[in-house]
Amino acid sequence: PVLSNQIAAGEVVERPASVVKELVENAIDAHSTQIDIVIDASGFEKIQVIDDGNGIAPDDVELAFMRHATSKIRDRRDLFNVHSLGFRGEALPSIASVADVILKTSTGGPGVEYHVRGGKTVDKKPAAARRGTDITVSNLFFNTPARLKYMKTPATELAKINDIVNRLALGHPEIAFSVTHNGREILRTAGRNNQLQVLGGIYGAKQTQKMLAFQNQDLDFKISGYFSLPELTRASHNYVVIILNGRFVKNFNVTKALTAGYGSKLMVGRYPIAVVNIEVDPTLVDVNVHPTKQTVRISKEEALCNLLTKTVAAQLSNQNL
Ligand code: ADP
Ligand code: MG
Repeated sequence: PVLSNQIAAGEVVERPASVVKELVENAIDAHSTQIDIVIDASGFEKIQVIDDGNGIAPDDVELAFMRHATSKIRDRRDLFNVHSLGFRGEALPSIASVADVILKTSTGGPGVEYHVRGGKTVDKKPAAARRGTDITVSNLFFNTPARLKYMKTPATELAKINDIVNRLALGHPEIAFSVTHNGREILRTAGRNNQLQVLGGIYGAKQTQKMLAFQNQDLDFKISGYFSLPELTRASHNYVVIILNGRFVKNFNVTKALTAGYGSKLMVGRYPIAVVNIEVDPTLVDVNVHPTKQTVRISKEEALCNLLTKTVAAQLSNQNL
């Protein structure tokens, strides 16, 4: 089992940012209202995620570290109607197979502290009864040195962590996030369900004055969000965040539809800063394409793209730009 978990880890746990993503998604799925992320040395020394969510019952803790043991889908049909972020039951066993993990968790009653390293249980003992989960991952890839060689510079790995956390925070403005790196706070969101406030936390409050809100819908899609004025652009499409039913996704057609709305107001090779929320019947979405669940297929994608382009163009011409 350790070996097959390490193989799965090759897909699920590519780098420190993937660990952050999986742990924070678990905290979100646990209905947390506050999630604190503490990182040391770009995640290579420590990734800690503290939440105030449901917690895990003491008897279920070992199960959570078993492959395909998910509490989130009960039968095959659920796979096509996914509402929670995690559903494969691969993250915790994969992470634990290539790192040192200490999990403290409580559902409100007596808590438990579980220590697992390289896929092997080290210790399990009673812990405080603070409702929620506090998970610390250290020594990432200690037993897979080949994987370590593929890592980029610490600055790049930290940038990837920031990118993931920014997307998760934008997708969940109702949750108060904090991120600390090497003891310095690098992001704090208020959790007041205000995406513009989250954008302010990420890019600086002043930049939000250069962002426009939009909202529109057709029979299948409801779209909303914010996009920057042509004066505030970036050289990468990474600053266009697409959130589909609360999950951030990658879909370059949607990004292109957004930039198409700017027409000639956008210079070639430039992209706006934006967050595009899309709400659609989950049965029109296939999220089960890739283990990291970032790529999705959307039925009627063309209609969605046309709606977005039209909405952005109309909003910009209202501004007399
Ligand atoms: P998945 O999220 O796909 O179900 P994971 O391996 O990420 O699989 O997690 C396994 C299980 O552990 C989850 O289904 C959930 O029951 C439990 N779990 C993990 N993290 C948390 C958390 N922060 N709070 C509550 N339960 C958690
Ligand atoms: Mg998960």
